[in-house]
Amino acid sequence: MTLTAATRIAGVVGQPIAHSLSPVLHNAWLQAAGLDGAYVAFGIEPGRFSAFVEGFRGGTLAGVNVTLPFKTDALAAADEVSPRAAAAGAANVLVFRPGGSVTADNTDGVGLLYAFTRQAPGFRPDRGPLVIFGAGGAARGAAAAFLEAGCPEVRVLNRTRSRADDLAALFGPKVRALDPADPAALGDAAALVNASSGGLGPEAPPPPDFAAAPAGAVAMDMTYKPLRTPFLAAAAARGLTAVDGLDMLIGQAIPAFEAFFGQPPPAGLDVRALVLRILGEAQ
Ligand code: NDP
Repeated sequence: MTLTAATRIAGVVGQPIAHSLSPVLHNAWLQAAGLDGAYVAFGIEPGRFSAFVEGFRGGTLAGVNVTLPFKTDALAAADEVSPRAAAAGAANVLVFRPGGSVTADNTDGVGLLYAFTRQAPGFRPDRGPLVIFGAGGAARGAAAAFLEAGCPEVRVLNRTRSRADDLAALFGPKVRALDPADPAALGDAAALVNASSGGLGPEAPPPPDFAAAPAGAVAMDMTYKPLRTPFLAAAAARGLTAVDGLDMLIGQAIPAFEAFFGQPPPAGLDVRALVLRILGEAQ
C-alpha cells in the first residue's frame, strides 16, 4: 500500500492503546475494499484528550474510535451528539467534519446486538429481562441498546451498589439495581451480559450462579481476551448459549468504518478469523 497526501486517515485513541485490535480490523477492510485509506492508533496521556480533538478540528483526519479512558471525554468534546451516544453517556466514535465541527456517536450497542445476532440466532431483546453485571460505561450502553430494542426490564448488578443505583435512576422504572447476591436477580432472565472489567485477575469475582437462570437464557461477556472467559465457561457448563465479546468488537467497528470511509466494510472478509489468529485462539 502506498500512502499519499490524499490517503484518508482514521484511527483509535486510548491509553493504553498498543494492544488495540481496531487497526487490524479497519486496515484489513481497507485493503480488501481497495480504498486509499489508513487506520492508526493514537496513545495519548490522560488530560490531553480535548487538546487532541481541538488539534484535528477541520483537518484531514476523518475521525477516530475512542476507547478507555476517554469515552466520556469524547462525548463532552463533540458539537453534535447522536441520540444513542447521549443515551449511553459516552462516545466511541468521533467524526471530524470539513467545516471544523465534531460529531459523536456510540456504536457499542450496535456491536452488542450484532454479537447476539451472530452467536445466538433467533434471540430477541424483547424476549425478557436483561441482567447486566457491571455499571460502567459499557453497562450503560448495553442498557440503552436493549431498551431501545424493546427489552422489558434491565437489572443491574454491580460491586459498588451506588453506581448501579445511579444507572437505574438515569433510565427510569425499566431499569432496577439489585444486589448481586439477590436470588431473584437471575430468575426469568432472557440475557445475562458481563460488562465488568474485573473478570480475569486475582481480584475477579466468581461467575454468577447460572443455575438460577432459565435454561434458554443467553450469556454474553464483553471481554474477549481470552475468548472463553470464566463467566462464559460457567454459563456453557449450565447449558446456556454463550456469546463472546469479539463479535461486539467487530459489530461496533462496522458503522464506524462507514462513518470514516464513506462505505460499509466489504462483505466476504472473515475478520473474526483474522483476529482469532492474532489472539492465538482456535476458531
Ligand atoms: P468501566 O471502567 O466504566 O466499568 C467497569 C465495571 O467493572 C464497573 O462496574 C466496576 O465495578 C466493575 N469491576 C471492575 N473490577 C471489578 C471486580 N474486580 N469485581 C467486580 N466488578 C468489577 O469500564 P467499561 O464499562 O467501559 O468496560 C467494561 C468492560 O467491557 C471492559 O472490560 C471493556 O474492555 C469491555 N468492553 C468491550 C467492548 C467490546 O467491543 N467487546 C466494548 C466496550 C467495553 P465498580 O463500579 O464497583 O468499580
